[in-house]
Amino acid sequence: MSVQTTVLVLPSPAQGHVNPFMILSQKLVEYGCNIIFVNTEFIHNKVVSSMGNQESGVTGGSPIKLVSMPDGLGADADRNNFVEVSVSILKNMPAMVEKLIEDVRLKDRVIVSCIVADFFMAWGLEIASKIGIKGVLFCPAPASLIALHCSIPRLIDDGIIDSKGLPITQKAFQLSPNFPAMDAGSIWWANGVDSIFGIEIFNLLVDCMKILELTECWLCNSTPDLEPEALSFVPKLLPIGPLLRSYDHDQGVSTQRSLGQFWEEDLSCINWLDQQPLGSVIYVAFGSFTDFDNKQFTELALGLELTNRPFLWVVRQDSDCNKTVPLPNEFKGNQGKIVKWAPQQQVLSHPAIACFVSHCGWNSTIEGLSNGVPFLCWPYFADQFLNKTYICDQLKVGLGFDSDENGLISREEIKVKVDKVLSDEKIRSKARVLKEKLLNNIKVGGRSSQNLNKFINWLKE
Ligand code: UDP
Repeated sequence: MSVQTTVLVLPSPAQGHVNPFMILSQKLVEYGCNIIFVNTEFIHNKVVSSMGNQESGVTGGSPIKLVSMPDGLGADADRNNFVEVSVSILKNMPAMVEKLIEDVRLKDRVIVSCIVADFFMAWGLEIASKIGIKGVLFCPAPASLIALHCSIPRLIDDGIIDSKGLPITQKAFQLSPNFPAMDAGSIWWANGVDSIFGIEIFNLLVDCMKILELTECWLCNSTPDLEPEALSFVPKLLPIGPLLRSYDHDQGVSTQRSLGQFWEEDLSCINWLDQQPLGSVIYVAFGSFTDFDNKQFTELALGLELTNRPFLWVVRQDSDCNKTVPLPNEFKGNQGKIVKWAPQQQVLSHPAIACFVSHCGWNSTIEGLSNGVPFLCWPYFADQFLNKTYICDQLKVGLGFDSDENGLISREEIKVKVDKVLSDEKIRSKARVLKEKLLNNIKVGGRSSQNLNKFINWLKE
């Protein structure tokens, strides 16, 4: 039998989950673990094809073995429908994961000793409990979201949400005295979706919360500098962030593709950044989901041009949804570079970057903060509004945009806020100080390093 610790990881099928799970897996490998990284077939195919011709590093004797299984949906199903996907996964994947664990034991003589499950893959913890191995929650969302989930019974008692999870008041509330104020917009499962969908997400969420009680080991990608109140509100939640990719500098950062991406990274943008003056480039990226309507897309394009500064803009072209919005005719794009998918962590750590126009997904938030980059926040849904509150009001390292009377963020507003954030020395110095604080957590002896060590020791017990 293999004496090495083998961990099976179960990320939710979304880019903002697969990436941090991959980084965590790579960290575990550094500590001598082997990883079985389980994706749905749909996601697995994206991850493999995004590596292009580059050796994926996961074949043969690699310590990270990528494994896929069907999610149970037909080829034409809408995999952006998170509830449908989660329900189908729950029906189909637990039996397959259990069989996989048994197969590797019999065929490869490998004992899986732990399952690390994402929040909405909590069923993995039931498997761990059933077969008598360790189970861990790793939630790549902010700790404040877990604190919110833990508070659901109280939110119902206090008349903030009804028993179906829908907000019934617009008034602000706090989870504890020092917690940043939340309001109906923070009830992410009901935010920007119809009420039926909101109720469905809420039901899934409540079921997962119950299963999470099966383990005492909860991990998250955060730090006490970012979310002190949330972390003391949920003491069993151990922060191990910021989770950042480590690049193989011998190969040169610009030639190495990151494992786990759904789209092929356009590495040419690193050479382009090399040609730009220090601290000059506006980086614009909205994660893996966000879509724009034509009008807003036009304002953004012309707003970037109006700033008269170099910009690097990620415009995804999703082959599976085929919704490409055309660039406006007036747009010349001379000062900028547009890519379909960037090596975002490399980009944010590049000295040419001046600020980050972001949708405030949690990974993007952590990555921007860890590189000391000031934010211009453009949240769309879910926890992004809460993350914006942290960035702008708590940490004070960014600004938000104001919409006009038609609900649009105008090109002029974009220029005004870019100029404002770049000339605000307070914001820039706060961002630099915060970067140092965050990185201290992952240095030897830092809080997150200690937590990770604690976790590894428990894993290997
Ligand atoms: N990302 C990237 N290249 C891009 C845009 C995004 O590598 O051009 C990565 C980014 O580094 C992050 C993830 O995609 O790790 C997006 O996660 P996030 O939580 O920020 O947003 P989501 O996609 O979940 O809305």
